[in-house]
Amino acid sequence: MSGVNEIRTKFLDYFGSNGHEIVASSPLVPRNDPTLLFTNAGMVQFKNVFTGAEHRPYQRAVTSQKCVRAGGKHNDLENVGYTARHHTFFEMLGNFSFGDYFKERAIELAWNLVTKEFGLPADRLLTTVYAEDDEAFELWRKIAGLPEDRIIRIATDDNFWRMGDTGPCGPCSEIFYDHGDHIWGGPPGSPEEDGDRFIEIWNLVFMQYEQLPEKRLDLPRPSIDTGMGLERIATILQGVHDNYEIDLFRALIGATEDALGVRARNADGTLNPSFKVIADHLRALGFLMADGVLPSNEGRGYVLRRIMRRAMRHANMLGATKPVLHRLVPALVREMGQAYPELSRAEGLIVETTEAEEVRFGRTLTRGLSLLEEASAGLTEGASFSGETAFTLYDTYGFPYDLTEDALRPRGIKVDREGFESAMAEQKAKARANWAGSGDAADERVWFGVRDRVGATEFLGYDTTRADATV
Ligand code: ATP
Ligand code: MG
Ligand code: MG
Ligand code: MG
Repeated sequence: MSGVNEIRTKFLDYFGSNGHEIVASSPLVPRNDPTLLFTNAGMVQFKNVFTGAEHRPYQRAVTSQKCVRAGGKHNDLENVGYTARHHTFFEMLGNFSFGDYFKERAIELAWNLVTKEFGLPADRLLTTVYAEDDEAFELWRKIAGLPEDRIIRIATDDNFWRMGDTGPCGPCSEIFYDHGDHIWGGPPGSPEEDGDRFIEIWNLVFMQYEQLPEKRLDLPRPSIDTGMGLERIATILQGVHDNYEIDLFRALIGATEDALGVRARNADGTLNPSFKVIADHLRALGFLMADGVLPSNEGRGYVLRRIMRRAMRHANMLGATKPVLHRLVPALVREMGQAYPELSRAEGLIVETTEAEEVRFGRTLTRGLSLLEEASAGLTEGASFSGETAFTLYDTYGFPYDLTEDALRPRGIKVDREGFESAMAEQKAKARANWAGSGDAADERVWFGVRDRVGATEFLGYDTTRADATV
């Protein structure tokens, strides 16, 4: 059985020996794109190379890129614990051609790796192409010998990639693996495609056009951008179905079991989803901090804080009464520190920051949870939870909105988001009305600016009756 670390190396070596420069992962905080919350794909560090604004001494590259999809356009936070294939933090394996080889060679390289090097049976694989991309359709027939009913034409944006409103764009093609008919789900393009039977493993983007405001031009030297989830390919190669069953996650889940003194498996052998969430969020928090993100009340730091608090709630559900997440960091470093030395270097910082955050939130977590339980006691499946109470949980107990949502989702209860938002708006308006201030408009702007950024509760320390409020 190949472990995750070997599979990563195998991928890099395969493309390395096919003339690709092995390039290190870029940080999770994108250097060249302030509009992007986190690096969410392998191509992010090469954006300017694709547009021609930047030149590199190579025309082919291969990476294993750290990615986080927990906010912004790509947000998989809600999927964690519910699907077999999504993480917040994951590694995207990718090969890139900057005006060098194109469609035919890209398909050939991908097909050979998957079927020859990795040895996946061809009859378990199927592909999608953009509906109008006859060229890709023919290439899959020719190179892979796939029957026509396993090359699925998709007319939606899922199979047409764009860097933005303008710039490079082009059709894409995805490789799917069929995990077997004992699992619910249908092929891509079918109504059941969101199930976990047919899982997308690799996305090949054929950048062949340049979109201008008025028209689309053919790029004189088209490019290739691909992305394959390391955890998803490892899942197949290790003969399991759920990403959380691969060697790496077993180790992290094992460490969590030891720290909590609770078994992760249910009686039927399946994993308790809370263990999956904790293992996933442990990776996200560790890698984000290693790249300089610290928990806070705005922007990237708030996404991190939300992830951490969500993990803490799941640990609490498993019976943890004391901070426990920080004790899992050494297991993460053991599993991934060799491939990512920045993680080892930041170990001390990650442990300390996580423990401080656990202590801080721990004080109000239990009280908030009992309020949540009380307020939702009478609700049955399909009911809606008061947005105002969700706001109190946020404001007084430091519960990020999505934590409340996550807590109620297993019971089929939705949160009244509008109610939450209007309670938030009302509180802001009230605070403005109550503001006596100095009569100096500039002062007020500064005060509200700070308040909006750090969140109201940071100021509750002034209010002695709610002195233990956090956030
Ligand atoms: P899906 O449709 O399954 O959500 P996607 O189409 O959003 O995947 P891409 O944006 O094409 O994914 O990313 C390229 C590859 O990265 C995917 O084929 C998949 O193998 C992997 N990947 C994407 N999102 C995740 C995730 N949240 N966790 C783990 N792997 C992922
Ligand atoms: Mg997705
Ligand atoms: Mg997809
Ligand atoms: Mg895709």
